[in-house]
Amino acid sequence: MSFTKDKSRAKRRQDLNRMKRRARRIYPHDAAAKCANHLQTCSCYACGNPRKHFNEKTLQEQRAEIAAAQEMARAWPVTNGPEHQSNL
Ligand SMILES: [Zn+2]
Repeated sequence: MSFTKDKSRAKRRQDLNRMKRRARRIYPHDAAAKCANHLQTCSCYACGNPRKHFNEKTLQEQRAEIAAAQEMARAWPVTNGPEHQSNL
């Protein structure tokens, strides 16, 4: 048995205990902290994935797309394209 494996096991147990403490704080009625790994107990339309219920992208995906578009605009700025010419 190697030291590294014991260390990672200890780390996993420590992390799980930390997540269980947090789960018990959020859901005090769940003493076993069954949702410690994900903290989600409901998948109704308000809590669930918007792709499932509304066919929309998640906030995380929307933020990633905006960040990617901004990165593209920074990398290749269009200063004299047709979208920058005034129509007046
Ligand atoms: Zn819900």
